[in-house]
Amino acid sequence: MDALEDLVDQGREAREKAYAPYSGFKVGAALRTKSGRVYCGSNVENAAYGLTICAERVAVFNAVSEGECEFEALAVVSENLAPPCGPCRQVLAEFGLDTQVVVADLGGRREVHLVSDLLPMAFTPALLPPRSSDSERDAS
Ligand SMILES: [Zn+2]
Repeated sequence: MDALEDLVDQGREAREKAYAPYSGFKVGAALRTKSGRVYCGSNVENAAYGLTICAERVAVFNAVSEGECEFEALAVVSENLAPPCGPCRQVLAEFGLDTQVVVADLGGRREVHLVSDLLPMAFTPALLPPRSSDSERDAS
């Protein structure tokens, strides 16, 4: 669990950077890619509430925007073991159902899940018909 604990520590640090002036509910995420790099994210709220984005998606989008699309594990740190929301589960499923998701609180509690457990019967890229002009999309 050492590697996951390190990821949780980075998620805890990311949580400190959360911008959550409306809910006060801070979440941090740390995503380790298969290359070994870690991308972090925190939730970012907005006065127009619907524009708020979760820490998990910030971490995923940070990784993808750096060209990393193969994930190993994601740590999600909150005050109360909050699991990823539905939209974040769908975003994670886009990049693989076997990513580990470590849900952690501030008091040392941990739960480890797989994306496939969090989102049964996921809608994945494999369900879309192949497009001849889109050779980069690799169903997983
Ligand atoms: Zn979410």
